Amino acid sequence: MSKPVVAIVGRPNVGKSTIFNRIVGERISIVEDVPGVTRDRIYSSAEWLNTTFNIIDTGGIDIGDEPLLTQIRQQAEIAIDEADVIIFMTNGRDGVTAADEEVAKILYRSNKPVVLAVNKIDNPDMRENIYDFYTLGFGEPIPISGTHGLGIGDLLDAVVAHFPKRETKEYDADVIKFCLIGRPNVGKSSLVNAILGEERVIVSDIAGTTRDAIDTTFKRDGQEYVIIDTAGMRKRGKVYESTEKYSVLRALKAIERSDVVLVVINAEEGIIEQDKKIAGYAHEAGRGVVIVVNKWDAIEKDEKTMNEFEKNIRDHFQFLDYAPIVFVSAKTKQRLHKLLPVIQMVSENHAMRVQTNVLNEVLMDAIAMNPTPTHNGQRLKIYYMTQVAVKPPTFVVFVNDPELMHFSYERFLENRIRDTFGFEGTPIKIIARPRN
Ligand code: GDP
Ligand code: GDP
Repeated sequence: MSKPVVAIVGRPNVGKSTIFNRIVGERISIVEDVPGVTRDRIYSSAEWLNTTFNIIDTGGIDIGDEPLLTQIRQQAEIAIDEADVIIFMTNGRDGVTAADEEVAKILYRSNKPVVLAVNKIDNPDMRENIYDFYTLGFGEPIPISGTHGLGIGDLLDAVVAHFPKRETKEYDADVIKFCLIGRPNVGKSSLVNAILGEERVIVSDIAGTTRDAIDTTFKRDGQEYVIIDTAGMRKRGKVYESTEKYSVLRALKAIERSDVVLVVINAEEGIIEQDKKIAGYAHEAGRGVVIVVNKWDAIEKDEKTMNEFEKNIRDHFQFLDYAPIVFVSAKTKQRLHKLLPVIQMVSENHAMRVQTNVLNEVLMDAIAMNPTPTHNGQRLKIYYMTQVAVKPPTFVVFVNDPELMHFSYERFLENRIRDTFGFEGTPIKIIARPRN
């Protein structure tokens, strides 16, 4: 089920990124060092009153060398395209400006709900500054202060009130949803066509429950699949769609709706930094991952090439050490028949549940083999472990003191779990909790 999307729009310097960070909070503390994830935080999940949603800071979307006003307009259009609710942000110290009116004009034309926020109202004396903003025609302006964290609750109340009623479910649980992500020209569209070429497409191009999603449903060997389109793949045209951060945004939305993510790499070009960044998103989102090396037909190779390529991938994507690698060619269809069975296997592992008693046998064996570490004279004690979630498989370990659970010991436990139960292709999470 996809979460509602909120976008913040407004001219530069009104405080969009300040408010974005306030709303997102420290909740998305980055546990692992996944490149790129912290740097451009223009898209993040957030929570208010038990409702989770995604939020976009459109100000962070770099449109390129266009004049400022064009950039602001395009950012507003992205917000209209992507969001369920738009926060229109203004600066209470400047009053209504021509650029605000420009944004307003674009927002009038959409039928998306707009919440008007007047920022930099740092103290009660400044509240009267908001009256000017009624003229923008979006109802009652909400005074906020990003620096002081004032009014954010009122703002979010107004935003959440506009969320669409949730549909219960997008697809049945046994349908495998996957997407292909990767840089432009790695062959994502060609792969989709090659996969579908052999299939009878049952339903295609459903304008799904989510905006702009073009999902393709097909069946093979009794298993139903949905390819979640990253839109960049088929819907091209608007200027901003070619900008990098915009395509990242589309990829993130597709990842979120998928069980399994195919990270596509071009064999001709090898791995570059951007591939790592893209793969980092899939890992971070806790989805099953398959690394697909495409255009395998196009390179010179001998019997060592595949091993070398694999080693290179493993070096670059250490955080994806669980992901299977498949070498294919969309052009010659080489090894393409392997792809769906691998996706199916990863999807099963992603949803796998392990019984508590079996898990604890493994845990006790692991502790016997490698005694728990000590820190400042205190030894970590592990009582028991239980799997609390799937997609991804998540384990809670009850211990005397979570602080004593060192990363390396957690990693050791993860490896024992993987060695015993498989879990190929899926990240797994281990959470240490104190036993009361
Ligand atoms: P953006 O360009 O719209 O993303 O704006 P920023 O979030 O980068 O903020 C622009 C400037 O306004 C920064 O110097 C912020 O520190 C400042 N600012 C943001 N919110 C407030 C606020 O509530 N009060 C005051 N006085 N300054 C703020
Ligand atoms: P996308 O931007 O990732 O969707 O990439 P496309 O599917 O549009 O492919 C980009 C280019 O690579 C096109 O010219 C394709 O014909 C070519 N291409 C795609 N897959 C293969 C392949 O397996 N081998 C070769 N040699 N070329 C391919």
